Amino acid sequence: MEHFDVAIIGLGPAGAALARHLSGKKRVIALDKKRQCGTEGFTKPCGGLLAPDAQRSFIRDGITLPVDVIANPQIFSVKTVDVAAGLTRNYQRSYININRHAFDLWMKSLIPDEVQVYHDSLCRKIWREGDMWHVIFRADGWEQHITARYLIGADGANSLVRRHLYPEHQIRKYVAIQQWFAEKHPEPFYACIFDNDATDCYSWSISKDGYFIFGGAYPMKDGQARFNALKAKMEAFHFQFGQPLKSEKCTVLFPSRWADFVCGKDNAFLIGEAAGFISASSLEGISYALDSAEILKSVFMRDTENLNDAYRSATRTLRMKLYGKIIKSRMLTSALTRKWIMQSGVAHIPQNQDQQTGNTAAEI
Ligand SMILES: Cc1cc2nc3c(=O)[nH]c(=O)nc-3n(C[C@H](O)[C@H](O)[C@H](O)COP(=O)(O)OP(=O)(O)OC[C@H]3O[C@@H](n4cnc5c(N)ncnc54)[C@H](O)[C@@H]3O)c2cc1C
Repeated sequence: MEHFDVAIIGLGPAGAALARHLSGKKRVIALDKKRQCGTEGFTKPCGGLLAPDAQRSFIRDGITLPVDVIANPQIFSVKTVDVAAGLTRNYQRSYININRHAFDLWMKSLIPDEVQVYHDSLCRKIWREGDMWHVIFRADGWEQHITARYLIGADGANSLVRRHLYPEHQIRKYVAIQQWFAEKHPEPFYACIFDNDATDCYSWSISKDGYFIFGGAYPMKDGQARFNALKAKMEAFHFQFGQPLKSEKCTVLFPSRWADFVCGKDNAFLIGEAAGFISASSLEGISYALDSAEILKSVFMRDTENLNDAYRSATRTLRMKLYGKIIKSRMLTSALTRKWIMQSGVAHIPQNQDQQTGNTAAEI
């Protein structure tokens, strides 16, 4: 049985960034469900928008984005639609429109060879014995068993590591549903859609590489029916769908209280969405995945007795920022406050076309 300093479960943005940071400093093994290349196997459903905070993380690491990760076109504003109020507003945004799967594979490709990476590999079981973490995973067609001093849960919304460490912990979850269509709109756009009948979270659309992606986060129970009902309503706002070419679904976490952020214990650490590090107001999570990986790397580089305490305290600013997003989300998902903000016109950039044709606010 091989022994490692660090075992990382999951190589999304959080795990891949941490594996890269720790390479050459610790003996690291990293397991990931995704294949090393191609579009077969597991792919993460995502809007694929890289927020300015994520861009800042790449600036700090001196990393530039290859063009094959970037999607077409780049869009500078988000159309925010309040369905019940019939209001549409344009707010400036500085996201980079990316191909999420290509981005994930590229992030994994940056992990140096010193890290022992298993692609297309599923971690099935973890447990602690003495001061060691034991990990059972399936790779290369057979079950393998390793031990590690430190265990990292970078395994996203359904984190096995989080469930093992905190079996009683409950965090609000939604089912995220996305469908891909051939793009038919005369001008590509992003949209953020609020409809309290469909969900107390929100929905979105993104034009990407000739596709129109429509998605949202819905209550688990009747998510699909709510998604379908909203799609039907959006035709009145000139959203054009046609036959879906691809449908995808996954769990997305929605932190709604301070206790929803969990950092780990017993030399096991949670980073990225596994820790609940995702914005409640926009469901952006890539930047917090990258930030938490960077914070954990700096904690590992310290000569500190209790690394769990050090990580918890080092993530305090990040957690406070995410708590601010919880407050913001409460304002945005409240029909009254949202209508008031949108009607005020603050930060709205009207489109010349709308002014010339006298289009109503509800029209795209
Ligand atoms: C529909 C949707 C749209 C979104 N849009 C955006 C967006 O536009 N911009 C943005 O910033 N954020 C977005 N998010 C949030 C963002 O996708 C996540 O917060 C982010 O991916 C979290 O990164 P992570 O590395 O923590 O986890 P993940 O990206 O979920 O990566 C975890 C990885 O762990 C692996 N894994 C899981 N379990 C195991 C296991 N048992 N064994 C081995 N490997 C395992 C999987 O391969 C997975 O890729 C969106 C989320 C959803 C659901």
